[in-house]
Amino acid sequence: MRQTYAGGCQCGKVRYEATTDLGEVISCNCSRCAKLGWLLAFVPAQDFKLISGKDATTDFQFNKHAIHHLFCATCGIESFARGKGPGGAEMAAVNVRCLDGVDLDSLDVKRVDGRSR
Ligand SMILES: [Zn+2]
Repeated sequence: MRQTYAGGCQCGKVRYEATTDLGEVISCNCSRCAKLGWLLAFVPAQDFKLISGKDATTDFQFNKHAIHHLFCATCGIESFARGKGPGGAEMAAVNVRCLDGVDLDSLDVKRVDGRSR
């Protein structure tokens, strides 16, 4: 079910809203996600609204530099990232662990082999 979730980093400088269906979330084994333990949901850019923290993040890129990993420069939490989807559309990757009030144990987790890409 599509729902609007609020989320952000640990210290509260980065806050956003994302409208998405959390029926299935992604666990990726790439060199970054594996270390961070991300649970991912991809959201079209128009369904993601950064409320605060535009200037509070540091941008990290690796591999093909397809995704901007925007972590809070104060508390270090990467609560979202930005990039382009397979069709070239602007997307936000939301860290589902950073959304308020989500029961993580109730989610269906799909494993994606990002390491091999
Ligand atoms: Zn923070």
